[in-house]
Amino acid sequence: SPAKKYDGETTPKVTFDDVAGLKGAKRDLKEIVEFLREPEKFQRLGAQPPKGVLLNGPPGTGKTLLARAVAGEAGAPFYSVSGSEFIQLFVGVGASRVRDLFKTARKTAPSIIFIDEIDAIGRQRGAGLGGGHDEREQTLNQILSEMDGFSVGETVVVMAATNRPDVLDPALLRPGRFDRHITVDRPTIEGREQLFEVHSRKVPVADDVDFKRLARATTGLTGAEIKNLVNEAALWATRHDQQFVTMDDFEYARDKVLMGDFREEILTE
Ligand code: ATP
Repeated sequence: SPAKKYDGETTPKVTFDDVAGLKGAKRDLKEIVEFLREPEKFQRLGAQPPKGVLLNGPPGTGKTLLARAVAGEAGAPFYSVSGSEFIQLFVGVGASRVRDLFKTARKTAPSIIFIDEIDAIGRQRGAGLGGGHDEREQTLNQILSEMDGFSVGETVVVMAATNRPDVLDPALLRPGRFDRHITVDRPTIEGREQLFEVHSRKVPVADDVDFKRLARATTGLTGAEIKNLVNEAALWATRHDQQFVTMDDFEYARDKVLMGDFREEILTE
């Protein structure tokens, strides 16, 4: 409904410690954290403060989590909207919603605005119907003009996520807009090991569990998939009334996640 408020207007509790792997991305984002914490330092040295950061990578790799962690590290409120939701929920009022969102973020600065699935709003203009005056374009134009309107003293950072950077309107990527690009890739083997660790923090894991081995055996899985795998292992152990989650449980869960419904078919044949 149009009355829906933005998610999480509070400071997230997550920090970079909750984000597995993605060392390069975290290093690049430290500068944003510093800016939100000490904007005066940037101003004093006449440095151009960062405004827009584009996180780009496949679904489930931790883009939203990273953005929340930046806010958590900086102690800044986090305003999150999704591009596709925006288009669907705010028909006819997209531009005024954007104005509203930026106004609130400015009032509570230093703050972060996060736009997930920016490609839903930010597709190349002029390609759609209506000769370039549709709803989506007005929403996009409003985002651009809000970002252009930030004055030097305004500490609002806009982060956006996409897995389709290729379809974005070049106007979004111009200097002073989303001019910083951070790649959020599928995890490396070390990243996967950390993902098992992070997502098993609250799981009583048996002594025989070997996260290194599991990391080797889960090439290609994303963070979201490994989180799901750990949960499947814990569910399987619960079903068998175990006190600990064992390596067998993790291996069962890995097969289930890797093979999906395929396995179910084999087992029920
Ligand atoms: P989408 O593009 O689908 O929105 P995303 O890249 O924003 O995906 P998230 O929503 O951040 O991904 O990730 C989904 C869940 O998977 C997160 O809540 C988190 O628990 C887990 N996850 C993904 N990547 C990581 C990571 N690098 N470290 C820790 N957890 C992760």
